[in-house]
Amino acid sequence: MDLFNLTIKKAHNLLVGKKVSSAEITRHFLDVIKKKDGDIRAFLAITEKLAMKQAKKVDDKIAKKENIGLLEGVPCAVKDNILIKNEKCTAGSKILENYVASYDATVIKKLKNNGVVALGKTNLDEFAMGSSTENSAFGPTKNPCDLTRVPGGSSGGSAAAVAADECIFALGSDTGGSVRQPAAFCGAVGLKPTYGSVSRYGLIAMASSLDVIGPITKTVEDAEIIFNAIKGKDKLDSTTIESNLSIFPPEADQPLAGNFQFSKNLKIGVPKEYFIEGMDRGVEECVRKVVDKLGKNKNIEIKEVSLPHTQYALAVYYILMPAEVSANLARYDGIRYGKSASAKNKSLLDFYLDTRGKYLGFEARRRIMLGSYVLSEGHFDDYYQKAGNVSGLIKEDFRNVFREVDLIVAPTTPNTAFKIGEKAKDPMQMYLSDIFTVASNIAGIPAMSVPCGFAGKMPVGLQVIGPWSGEDKIFALGKIIELLV
Ligand code: GLN
Repeated sequence: MDLFNLTIKKAHNLLVGKKVSSAEITRHFLDVIKKKDGDIRAFLAITEKLAMKQAKKVDDKIAKKENIGLLEGVPCAVKDNILIKNEKCTAGSKILENYVASYDATVIKKLKNNGVVALGKTNLDEFAMGSSTENSAFGPTKNPCDLTRVPGGSSGGSAAAVAADECIFALGSDTGGSVRQPAAFCGAVGLKPTYGSVSRYGLIAMASSLDVIGPITKTVEDAEIIFNAIKGKDKLDSTTIESNLSIFPPEADQPLAGNFQFSKNLKIGVPKEYFIEGMDRGVEECVRKVVDKLGKNKNIEIKEVSLPHTQYALAVYYILMPAEVSANLARYDGIRYGKSASAKNKSLLDFYLDTRGKYLGFEARRRIMLGSYVLSEGHFDDYYQKAGNVSGLIKEDFRNVFREVDLIVAPTTPNTAFKIGEKAKDPMQMYLSDIFTVASNIAGIPAMSVPCGFAGKMPVGLQVIGPWSGEDKIFALGKIIELLV
């Protein structure tokens, strides 16, 4: 039985048709991981016992001739900053190396209720801070398309696991591009949902006003299925919203985007600010080719649009995000969570300094310092407050453009996956790889990366950006794009 390249529906049909058992599918993926992951290193931990237990539940149901849901018995991988009860959760950090989660994240509860089988936890940049997984305390993940290159980050393990066919889908988290950029680098689909549409309860916080959990999948349809399974209001996360609402409500004259049916006259905006000097020509060509093909459809109108404050998005992100990081990471003090340095003959301050100096990585410490600085007395107005004001302008740009068009299409990243080590010593270059992804996080709007071809041997991602709660529109266009490439 060929169990390669399974999508959710294909797996479901095999299970319902009794062609294969849930235990067999699970075993197949565990075997693939065993075979391939020594090179790729997408996984930090395999949750075999849990996986086999979940698979057995599904097989018992099938044996009893009970109907099974679409996700029952579907194996997935989970980014290691999302809690699974009784399993380790490291966030890619030494400080949480032995931390065991005492509860399930809401998304995990939802997936378990749907019968999903969790195969393991995937590698990430420490506390999701990075664009390559090189900031993981447990070593980098390799890109399955070329083992000398990074898989992107911070959800690089999740994207690599999907691309290497080590699971059917994976969960990632996206604060500034961490689902979309690795999906683009590995040739997978990656959705960053509307902020607040998916509960953050049980996601280890990076920057709470930007963080959102999203699926990485092989197809747009699978991303849609998983998004619909994990979304929804949650009383354990007060920033969550009912689907099709948003905490950044559109203006009164702008209709909400829910339940979109693609029929005719779809207006797509191509923002001129997303084609910049210095970007990879191969990336631009791939994206332009798809835009041209879309333009040939008589029901689609392509329009050049402008998001004039895009040039400030990266600066705004790298002020707001570290400010929140510095506050969120304050909890790793060696007392309440994780590892601690020896407290013998030490003042409290020295104990903190030792613990955090020893067990937090370089990038985490850099961002804590940057964040503390931008929030400090005398600098707050210059940095944090100003960045907050400009983030309002970035939101306004999107509001204006979504009065003219239904969706925006742009490259996900300016370049394809870079070599391991190429940017590790140059944080500015690393930060620049987020240039096309951070604005959607600042605005809270949904965006999805869809594979749109190759530049050389490496996959290229095209980003479909939608209005608040416009996931349905994004899926509709994403499925059309899949047929064009
Ligand atoms: N690469 C970005 C950063 O380093 C994005 C991180 C993320 O989305 N978690 O901040």
